[in-house]
Amino acid sequence: MRADPSRQRALLDLQTLDTTLGQLEHRQSTLAEHARVAELEAAISATESTLVHARTEHEDVRRELSKADADVQLVRDRAARDRQRLNAGTGNAKDLQGIQHELESLARRQDVLEEAELEVMERAEVAQSRVSATEDELARLVDDAQTVRAARDAATADIAGERGRVAADRDRLVEAVGPDLVALYDKIRARSGSGAAPLVARRCGGCQLELHTVDLGRIRAAEEDEVLRCEECGRILVRTEESGL
Ligand SMILES: [Zn+2]
Repeated sequence: MRADPSRQRALLDLQTLDTTLGQLEHRQSTLAEHARVAELEAAISATESTLVHARTEHEDVRRELSKADADVQLVRDRAARDRQRLNAGTGNAKDLQGIQHELESLARRQDVLEEAELEVMERAEVAQSRVSATEDELARLVDDAQTVRAARDAATADIAGERGRVAADRDRLVEAVGPDLVALYDKIRARSGSGAAPLVARRCGGCQLELHTVDLGRIRAAEEDEVLRCEECGRILVRTEESGL
């Protein structure tokens, strides 16, 4: 293949732009925010299920508390009725003595039930504060995720802007290089990551290997517009002032 030396030099600029595009792509895919967002989303999902458990537990304890309240109330009502009967003074002495007995036993029963009620109340408080703490934690995580997503989107927009500028430069260079040479370059690039390299101080700038004397002789003898390839890596070898020929 033959191509004017200026087209060959433009190929090196094209390679520089493609390297930059590759770096931008790498920067985009390795943004620290990606990992952080994934981390926060996992934490949010874990905290959401913790919250479901905490709320269920709180509901259970509250039901238990209602029952404990009702138990205590039952005994109080019964005692109140007994006292009314006692105050009314109806019934014989034996009846009144029976009521007196029952009141004493109800008082003991009430003590026990109130003790139990207090214990359930304490557990309800603990369950409630667990729900509140988990709600706070969830809100904080959702906030953090929003902040990190915004940072990720801003960084992504920056990179996209830069990529757009480089891509526009690339379009112009592709025209300067010409379709035949670009096609060959793209084919090599798809295979080995880069398609063209300068010949610098008798070394291929792509694979960094020093050229054999025979190859150098061949390159020296070649016409200026002949498109050369590195014998080692196959890249298009572009002659420059630093080639050392
Ligand atoms: Zn090479």
